[in-house]
Amino acid sequence: MSETTLLQNGLVVNGTGKAGYRADVLIEGETIAQIGAVDPAAAERIIDCAGLVVAPGFIDVHTHDDAIVLDAPAMRPKISQGITTVIVGNCGISLAPVVTRTPIEPLGLLGTQRFCFARLAEYAAAVDAAQPAINVAALIGHTSLRAAVMPSFEHAATADERARMAQQLRLAMDDGAVGLSSGVFYANAFAADERELIEVAAAAAQAGGVYATHIRTEFDGILEAMEEAARTARHGGLPLILSHHKCAGPANWGRTGETLARMDRLATRQPIGLDVYPYTAGSTVLREDLVDGIIDIIITGSEPHPEMIGKRLSDIAAQWGVSQQEACRRLLPGGACYFQMSEEDMQRVLAHPRSMIGSDGLPHDVHPHPRLWGTFPRVLGHYSRDLGLLRLESAVFKMTGLPAAQFRLGQRGTLAAGHPADVTVFDAQRIRDRATFAEPEQISEGVRHVFVNGALSYEEDAAMPADYPRNGRFLRRVEV
Ligand code: ZN
Repeated sequence: MSETTLLQNGLVVNGTGKAGYRADVLIEGETIAQIGAVDPAAAERIIDCAGLVVAPGFIDVHTHDDAIVLDAPAMRPKISQGITTVIVGNCGISLAPVVTRTPIEPLGLLGTQRFCFARLAEYAAAVDAAQPAINVAALIGHTSLRAAVMPSFEHAATADERARMAQQLRLAMDDGAVGLSSGVFYANAFAADERELIEVAAAAAQAGGVYATHIRTEFDGILEAMEEAARTARHGGLPLILSHHKCAGPANWGRTGETLARMDRLATRQPIGLDVYPYTAGSTVLREDLVDGIIDIIITGSEPHPEMIGKRLSDIAAQWGVSQQEACRRLLPGGACYFQMSEEDMQRVLAHPRSMIGSDGLPHDVHPHPRLWGTFPRVLGHYSRDLGLLRLESAVFKMTGLPAAQFRLGQRGTLAAGHPADVTVFDAQRIRDRATFAEPEQISEGVRHVFVNGALSYEEDAAMPADYPRNGRFLRRVEV
């Protein structure tokens, strides 16, 4: 007889976008057994959810958690936000199928220790062995495919290299990958031409995968970069996901009206989605070409100067008596937060009906961007409740039903009898992010109870045992 838990009298926001309604939710074993008026005698454990929202567990569609789920499987930054599934392998960067101790840039965003999986199946087995607190679904990175196949990266792949990358990707799709990601913005992928991207993407299309991309530029040439991504997905024959959509750089601010209109037009011809995080700063490796002397930049990591982590680049430059570019060079290699977006643009993307929520958090940074710990409560608290930018049900839809459909995660993402019991219970009046740029590693408020595959895996303020259940697993793409 499997364990039963009754979530009594909560507001059920079921992940479809429809209005919430008052009901009980019965979890039996790993499954949602019943939604409605449930006889309490049916349950071994009863949790009073009056005044609380009962929602599907959140799906973080844009992460770089590939290695951290193995090394820190408690996944506190994520489960404390109500996240029950992360999609790893974004921006062209995945662990599989790369085997090396010296990963090329920007694969080092995942650390350097875990590039040891020649097949996605081996990574999946490592995830299951690590027993993370949350589920993991995986994209395969185009830059990683290049690293696995090509001896140098300053040119577009040859016919032979394209065929070998496609073959590697087909194997990964057999192992359950949800699709291909690319990061043609980054060194070591920038030289890829459309033929390379299309031929590789087509290998994911045959198995029903998606193509998620960090496009070639989010600065002045963004429309052309979006068109390139759309052509790649169209000719490759698979749905497009535009990663962390933004108009970057002060000269480009105000243009999301234009980019979203372009996306809507493209979407009349092909399936398109996008993801967004609720902050005006991006974060990535430290790069001199992103230092314009105008925007604020905060250092999140620096190998030669760890004492400067958490400081503003402009302050460091002043202290050293050099230009910001020179200060940047001295800090390399490292990472940074770049305040490269306008609030108005970000809000427009967040409110767009097609956008999903993805944290893009970087868990290996010493002083990470607060999005790692705060993204989902920030959308629900600050943007939905406090500013009224989007309805509660719409915000939940962007975190649950929409991503589950786009990434082929089957019945996860919506609450209904028979669905896997990934459930997040939160207080809509109280939920709020506490992570800031000054103090980024802060647990959010208002996430009350989180169930992963039926196991109660997180409770706010509770004296949870140090080893409370970790019940996540590797999720294979669901065949439809
Ligand atoms: Zn990216």
